[in-house]
Amino acid sequence: MKAAVMLGTNKPLQLCDMPLPVIADDEVLVETRTSGICGTDLHILEGAAYVPRLPHILGHEPAGVVARTGSAVRNLKPGQRVVPYLFFNCQDCYYCRVGRHQQCLHLDGILGVLCHGGFAEYFKAPARNLFLLPDHVPFDAGGLIADAVVTAVHAVRRAELYSGQNAIVLGAGGVGLSLIQVLVNAGVRVIAIDRVEAKLELARHFGATGTYPFSMEPVASAIRDLADSDGIAAVFDCVGSTPSLAAACRWVRNGGRVVVIGESGQPPAITSTEIAQRELEIIGSRNGARQDFVEAIRLVQYGAVRPPIAARFPLQNVNAALDALRAGPIGRVVVVVRD
Ligand SMILES: [Zn+2]
Ligand SMILES: [Zn+2]
Repeated sequence: MKAAVMLGTNKPLQLCDMPLPVIADDEVLVETRTSGICGTDLHILEGAAYVPRLPHILGHEPAGVVARTGSAVRNLKPGQRVVPYLFFNCQDCYYCRVGRHQQCLHLDGILGVLCHGGFAEYFKAPARNLFLLPDHVPFDAGGLIADAVVTAVHAVRRAELYSGQNAIVLGAGGVGLSLIQVLVNAGVRVIAIDRVEAKLELARHFGATGTYPFSMEPVASAIRDLADSDGIAAVFDCVGSTPSLAAACRWVRNGGRVVVIGESGQPPAITSTEIAQRELEIIGSRNGARQDFVEAIRLVQYGAVRPPIAARFPLQNVNAALDALRAGPIGRVVVVVRD
């Protein structure tokens, strides 16, 4: 099969012929239609996050059609449209028992991250990791459920927000724009912050009440006006840099929650005094659990979340797609493997 293959760090992907994945009794072979690209792909390529065994096939926002099922698979049949839950979790450890599957102690892989993903004509996954994609949801938007949308759903759950509260979304990329829609649908008033005005325009389109360019001071006073005396109950940091996390901690009200979604190698710049005296809650959030995934599909199915797509590139132009991501697209960049 044709695949875009990572052969080393900081090298362009190579279009190669790779062997068709061999499926076990409980696995399914999926014919890939599309696969989204996200910042994590760049981190992996740069050697800054995860270390997959090379050669590696990236792509952790794929969607496709069941091509073949293992002999023990009962829940799926060829021809069905599917989207994968990325974490191949064990079902039996503490975290799986309490429904935190992405923290599984015996993880058998993460699709597209630690095992082969969607930048190829086919990918495989355990049958129980594949969920039906509703008929009217296109593959390109549907694939984004696997990361951008489920991450937004899980982060909102982590924040324990209620309708009528105020929240800030810092960073209006693929995850941030999905988050804004989940929050607005839940009756939360959203302020969006980003460096790029075109992203803020889309944030307003998706229901953000206030939008501001990222800079500490003017935003702080504007937030005080907009959020009234109740303040900001939660800030979602989709950037995860030293300045973004410092800003998030500054904007959130005392006793509020800072949900850290974006990842970087940079350390947070906040003192223990500030965390203790202001009773801040700094909460990590990674992708989502299986129930978050089911709810993410539902939100896209009912049109409550429309994952924004900035551009589409055919598989053979995957390196141009990666460049488009580096340039800071307005929404997600998607690789089209088969039309
Ligand atoms: Zn991702
Ligand atoms: Zn487990």
